[in-house]
Amino acid sequence: MPSKTLPSIKYTKKVEITENRVIMLPDVSFQGAGKGYCMFIERVARQESPMMQIAVIGAGLSGLATTIALMKRFHQPFEAWLIDAQDAPGSFGNGPVGRALTSEPARDLSVIPDRPDDFSDWLKGSLLADGPIASLRGPQDLHVPRALFRDYVMARFSEALSLRKDIRIRTFRGEVRDAIPQNDRVRLRFREGDRAEFDHVFIATGFGVARREADSWRAAHAAADRLSQCEDPPVLTLLGNGPRFASLLLDLRASGYAGPIHIRAATGSLPQPHGRGHDRASFGPPPASRSLRDAFHYIRRECRTAENREPGQWQSVVDAASLRLSAVWRNLPQKERNHYRRHLLHLHRHFSTRIARDTHRRLVAELETGRTQFVSSRLPAGPEENTVDCRETPSASVLARLLGMDLDLLSVNDSGGLLMDGNPLFGLSLVGTAASSLRPGPFVFAETVRQAYRAVLDMQRHTFALASRS
Ligand SMILES: Cc1cc2nc3c(=O)[nH]c(=O)nc-3n(C[C@H](O)[C@H](O)[C@H](O)COP(=O)(O)OP(=O)(O)OC[C@H]3O[C@@H](n4cnc5c(N)ncnc54)[C@H](O)[C@@H]3O)c2cc1C
Repeated sequence: MPSKTLPSIKYTKKVEITENRVIMLPDVSFQGAGKGYCMFIERVARQESPMMQIAVIGAGLSGLATTIALMKRFHQPFEAWLIDAQDAPGSFGNGPVGRALTSEPARDLSVIPDRPDDFSDWLKGSLLADGPIASLRGPQDLHVPRALFRDYVMARFSEALSLRKDIRIRTFRGEVRDAIPQNDRVRLRFREGDRAEFDHVFIATGFGVARREADSWRAAHAAADRLSQCEDPPVLTLLGNGPRFASLLLDLRASGYAGPIHIRAATGSLPQPHGRGHDRASFGPPPASRSLRDAFHYIRRECRTAENREPGQWQSVVDAASLRLSAVWRNLPQKERNHYRRHLLHLHRHFSTRIARDTHRRLVAELETGRTQFVSSRLPAGPEENTVDCRETPSASVLARLLGMDLDLLSVNDSGGLLMDGNPLFGLSLVGTAASSLRPGPFVFAETVRQAYRAVLDMQRHTFALASRS
């Protein structure tokens, strides 16, 4: 990869406290953004021998969690490229997106797997130390603005970086067209035609380039601005009903858009509000059977039993189910996994996703006004310019195209390791949302973080094995 001059990160923030809510107004961007390469961080290593070359595709939450895991757990010199088609690392906290509340409470948002309270401790430290808040009770239950969560992730990122003198982290702006394993390396090809080879590639592409979050926000506001000019505005259609749709809809209304809005989504319902977690629900051992039908019956039966034991505690039931899912998944043959991906992934994702209680309450109130309504997903949507895609189901076929592989043969294990026809494909790992295009979860952040650390440990083991062989 060619090098260019190294601009520094532009990272400013302003904090406002209104009615006990903390609102961060941040601004993070690639410097000198435009065509070609762009880097924002480099800790120059004085390294004599060649460093291991690693790429992380996607600078969203999963890519950042993976890079933090690399810095903390990969104990050998390396150079990592954090590649994104457009978004700067941490940009999920920019603008109105950053003011939206996290779906999960602070207790579920640690980037350090063995310190689950890390984010709530950071919140206490940051908010109390500066004095804007005198006391803070139960920070672990708070759903905070995403900008604040971003600041935490970037703080842990910088700390991890400051402890490693033997690594180099670069960010690179470019869309990866394909990631093809070749011998012991993986070759990336970019849209502009550039190529680069890496020893290991982590794919953290989330919902893919076509469904980038920033694009949904831009498109929604552009459409609302245009439609507001009409005396009798036609319907604005939002596709999807996940947290992205939820925060976007509320933001459109908060910014004064009063026209009719249709929500078009297969499940036709809001995501569930977050409740307090209970640890009491547990599932019995999963069936030894290798059929999806039996797995499905097992999960349904255990859900019903757990729900009867603790009525209304559906969240602890879903948590208990998640703990058993990897064992169930391991038992399934590829054909059954494909069946799940085609027919159940979408539903499973919807029912596992939660939103902050406050966000849910405001959405219910909005639906009650009648200005916003769910409509059948079977009917065609309105004109393209009045339709905004906010869908949050990762596309397995986009992933298969990126890898140039037959989707029906692809699978992923608990550590994000890719399998082709049941055989491990070394040198490639899938993390976070991208991985959940092929298997159940990770639909919660803690699981993404665990997967990132497991993926790094697996890479470490494989690197040692290669070194001892040679
Ligand atoms: C208001 C709100 C609150 C939320 N709260 C939570 C929460 O509390 N917990 C949680 O877990 N999730 C939450 N989410 C969902 C969360 O944003 C997504 O789960 C998360 O963005 C997924 O992160 P990711 O890194 O996997 O994917 P993304 O954030 O989608 O990042 C993927 C990146 O990869 C890049 N990319 C894709 N394809 C390519 C390519 N071919 N080449 C180069 N770059 C590429 C994209 O440009 C993108 O920047 C929330 C979402 C919203 C809107």
